[in-house]
Amino acid sequence: MLSGLSITWKELWTKKVTRQYPENRDTLVISERFRAELVMPHDENNEHACTACGICQINCPNGTINVISRTTETEDGKKKKELDRYVYNLGTCTFCNLCVITCPSDAIVFSNNFENATFTRNKLVKQLNHEGSRLREKKPIKKAGNEAEKDSQTA
Ligand code: SF4
Ligand code: SF4
Repeated sequence: MLSGLSITWKELWTKKVTRQYPENRDTLVISERFRAELVMPHDENNEHACTACGICQINCPNGTINVISRTTETEDGKKKKELDRYVYNLGTCTFCNLCVITCPSDAIVFSNNFENATFTRNKLVKQLNHEGSRLREKKPIKKAGNEAEKDSQTA
């Protein structure tokens, strides 16, 4: 009993390590690698990199992702598939990261924004593509000096 009391007495005077959340929100440091929520980055032109290929949806083990696409016609009359809605259910996500790893376009990432508590499960179902957003056109890759030179010689 005495040894137990001595430990209790000692703990009374040791420095407390409990974090006072949410009071410490301004100084809170969350690791960049922490997987809190799947997001689809958009640039300043409201463009994303998702081609609506559906690979992430196929690889998700529990049906957390629903990629809804639509078909449009280009100026030269070709049919093109594009993203309509990218629906993600944070409530069923296991944060396994398979969707991010297998996306061929690097269109989705995990953010470390962990403040997602809600009273309604429906609010955990999110559309990741922004309203009015569209696919970012791929810029032609500049050829290295030698290749560009070869092209000009063969032309
Ligand atoms: S992290 Fe895993 S469970 Fe969550 S959406 Fe991606 S593949 Fe599905
Ligand atoms: S997020 Fe990636 S894998 Fe998923 S549909 Fe878009 S491009 Fe395909």
